[in-house]
Formats: sequence, structure tokens, C-alpha cells
Amino acid sequence: MQTLPLIQHLINGQLVAGGSRAQDVFNPATGKAEKRLLLADKATVEQAIASAHAAYPAWRATQPLKRARVMSKLKVLLEENAEQICALLTAEHGKVLGDALGELQRGIENVEYASYCPELLKGEHSKNVGPSIDSWSEFQPLGVTAGITPFNFPVMVPLWMWPMAVACGNTFVLKPSERDPSSTLLVAQLALQAGLPPGVLNVVNGDKEAVDTLLHDKRVQAISFVGSTPIAEYIYATGCANGKRVQALGGAKNHAVVMPDADVANAVSALMGAAYGSCGERCMAIPLVVAVGEAVADAVVAGLKIEIAKMKVGPGIDASNDMGPLVTKQHFEKVKGFVDQGVAEGATLVVDGRGVKVSGHEGGYFLGACLFDHVKPGMTIYQEEIFGPVLGVVRVKTLQEAMDLIDAHEYGNGTCIFTRDGEAARYFSDNILVGMVGINVPLPVPVAYHSFGGWKRSLFGDLSAYGPDAVRFYTKRKTITQRWPSAGVREGTVYSFPSSR
Ligand code: NAD
Repeated sequence: MQTLPLIQHLINGQLVAGGSRAQDVFNPATGKAEKRLLLADKATVEQAIASAHAAYPAWRATQPLKRARVMSKLKVLLEENAEQICALLTAEHGKVLGDALGELQRGIENVEYASYCPELLKGEHSKNVGPSIDSWSEFQPLGVTAGITPFNFPVMVPLWMWPMAVACGNTFVLKPSERDPSSTLLVAQLALQAGLPPGVLNVVNGDKEAVDTLLHDKRVQAISFVGSTPIAEYIYATGCANGKRVQALGGAKNHAVVMPDADVANAVSALMGAAYGSCGERCMAIPLVVAVGEAVADAVVAGLKIEIAKMKVGPGIDASNDMGPLVTKQHFEKVKGFVDQGVAEGATLVVDGRGVKVSGHEGGYFLGACLFDHVKPGMTIYQEEIFGPVLGVVRVKTLQEAMDLIDAHEYGNGTCIFTRDGEAARYFSDNILVGMVGINVPLPVPVAYHSFGGWKRSLFGDLSAYGPDAVRFYTKRKTITQRWPSAGVREGTVYSFPSSR
């Protein structure tokens, strides 16, 4: 039997083994196991935390400008190694190469933003807040911080977290998804090459045992999590109960409203990419269209049907394909099960992707694009996050009816509206109970210098991911008030509360 290459942990700058359990990592386009991943046990994670803890004092004391230079160098290394990173990403996740490049670029933009850390950490200063008294607020690092990331963006989501955390002077332990860990690990190795001292960033591969160790260890000050809502809620509750600062981003079910005055052809093109790009495995994907009025609903369904027929489904490594496979066999079965259930619950299956076969890749986890019409709010395919290439059309009569549906949904990650009516768009964006809103923009993922976060059960915590919120999340404010009395001047005691009165 062939021995599979082993994926190890990165602790204190070294690749190390650790943990007696292991699992296979599959290529979703072939269904074949290609690597074996060691799952860290408690002792291995504690070793990573100890390494981050030991590296912290020197890294905290390193000039922000020097920390920034590591980020600038990493940006260049990521660009130079883009091909290798994306090949690894596609081989384990399945997404097509162009999509992988887009993910990497968005990750690089976060590294770029972290390289502005000397500017971002300048703090606030006020002179003469009292007689000869000056006051300033500074942003100090927290210590050892940690991140737990999902499978769907193995390069970008870790880069939402650790570059800003370490740029702010913290050290970091990252626990990536066990389903596609290789590209994440390569990026961390490039950070070492860029000059990040050993121990500042550690990567432990693993599952619940690794995560629970991070959640309970007193040395870990803060945890960033991105993944599904049940786990996000668990991470938030357990981390907070253990006295940690936690931000936990969860799942989504994003609705796109199409108004009667929308440019339907452009809306259809936008919806195709938003619904089926990355096989629907994006937290900002659009799995639901809410069409306002029967005429626009009919036009959207007809347009989608035509475009779906043109889609090319196949292995992501072939850049001419539009959509790759789902990530694992279990996920494939789960998504297919949702389609079966949609049919059973009475939605109209306009396009059925369940029979798709990719020649030469019969073992791959390929599901073709599926399109449902007449989806109703009570249905499972309306309520639950499917995370697959399944788009449902809901028909409503008014914008208000569409907005009431969106507001009533448990998730509030992203949404968008297609319209030519500025007043309707403004009313929508102003009032909708969702964290990220697009106006004629199907995937309104904020750029790196804004922050990313949903509302309702899409985010547990007070601060969003990356951008300005990340600076706040990975630092503690300290406010210092200072006075240097003149030599020889005798000062009396004041018993009243100091104020400007
Ligand atoms: P997941 O919740 O299964 O896993 C996320 C992480 O949690 C992984 O590192 C995993 O090892 C760990 N984990 C899983 N089960 C655990 C348990 N019982 N205890 C402790 N840790 C556990 O999510 P996934 O399937 O990898 O990713 C898809 C999900 O992530 C979707 O729900 C998607 O919407 C969400 N997501 C959200 C955002 C966002 O920004 N809101 C971004 C990307 C993905």
C-alpha cells in the first residue's frame, strides 16, 4: 500500500509531528486520498501555545515598523508563490483556479492592510485635558491569540486573522480546517521566510480536541472563529466563559432581491456567479432570489435556466471550468439530500444537477447547478444553509414583503438588491437587518480596509473581522494621563472629583 505524505504542525518555526490520531485529506475532483493529516492532541496544542507565549515579549517590543516590513515582504512572497498556493488550494478544496486566485488576492489585501500597522496603532492624544495635563490612549497587544478557520477559504480567512493580530504585536496559534490544510500551512511557512520570528505564528492541525484546548488554556487571550453557526455559538459561549475575548462568525443564507425595474440580464449574470461560484461554498453566496412580481420572477428563472445550460462543471485544476466539485463526499451527500428534500416539500426543481457526471473523474464529488422555483419560507431549503450549488427563487409581491422575509430569517450575513430605483435601494440598505448589503453588487464582501461581519446569528461578538475592527479586536486600549508639576510649586489637596468645572 502506498504511504501518503504526512501533513505536520508548525510550532516554533519547525514542522513537527504530534498526536496519535490522523485522517486522510482527499482530492474532491477524484475522490482519492492524497495526504494524511496528523490531528493534534492536547499536549501538541499546549506546545504551540507555549511557543507563542515565549515569543510574545520580544515580539511585543519589536517596533511596529519592523513588524510592518515582515507583512510587506510576505505580500511579495504570496504573489511570487501564487501558482503553488492555488494549486494546493484547488487540489484539496476543489474550487477552480481562477476562483482560488481571487481568494488569494483578497487575502493578500489583508496582509497589505496589516502592513499599515504603524499608522493604525498611533492611538489618540489630547493636550491640556486639565491644567498642564496631557492624556493619550494607546493600543496594546493582548498576548497569545488564536484563530480557528473553515474549509471554504483556507487561504483568505486565516489571512483575515493572524496578519493583523501579529502586526499589532500579538503572537498566534492557528487551527485551520482539517479538510484542506496544505495551502494554509504553506502561507504560514512563507511568513517565516518573510522574517516572522519562530513562535510568533504557530499552526496546529486538528479537530475538536485541538479547538477545546485553545478554548480552555488560560494563556490564550482572544479567539477569532469563522465557521458554521452551531460551532460559532459554542466557541463564543465557551471562550467567553473562560474569560477570553471572542469573535465568532457563523453561517449565512443570503437573499438577493430582484425588483421589477432591474436590468434582468445583468442581474442573471451576477446571480450565476454568486450562486454557483465556488460551488456555492461561500458564506456570501446567494442561495435565494426574492423576485418582486411574477413577471420579473419568470424572466429571472428563464434567464438562469439558459445560463446554467452553458456552465462547465469539472475539476478546478482545468481553468476553463466554471464550477468544481463539492469539498467532501459527506458534504456532497448532504447537499444532494437537501435537493431531494426540496422536491419532497413541493418546490419546483427547474434544473436538476444531481445526475451530472464528469468524464474521467467518476469518483469526484460533482453536483451540477440546481435551480428551484416557488420556494416558500417554511421549506427546509429556504431555512437552512445548504452550502452547495442550489439556488431557490421565492416569489413575492412587494419590496416590503421581500424585506420582511429577510428580516425574519435567522441569519443576517449578506444581502443585495437589483434595481434602478435609487429610493428603493436607499430604503433597503438603510433598513434591512443584515450586516453587508450590495446594491447591484451580488457579493458585497467588504475590502480589507473596511470590516466584515454579519448580523443576527451570523456573528457572535461585538467586533467584525479584519479592517479597522480587527485592530480593536487584537488590542487593548490603555489611557494614560500625565502631569509634570513645576519644580518647587507646592500643591494643595483636592477632595472634589477632578473635572473641568
Ligand atoms: P465548521 O463549523 O464545520 O468548521 C469550522 C472550524 O471549526 C474548523 O476548523 C473545524 O475543525 C472546527 N470544528 C468543527 N466542529 C467542531 C466542534 N464540534 N468543536 C470544535 N471545533 C469544531 O465549518 P466549515 O464546514 O469548515 O465551513 C463552512 C461554514 O463556515 C459555513 O457555515 C459558512 O457559512 C461558514 N463561513 C462563515 C463565514 C463568515 O464570515 N461568516 C466565512 C466562511 C465560512
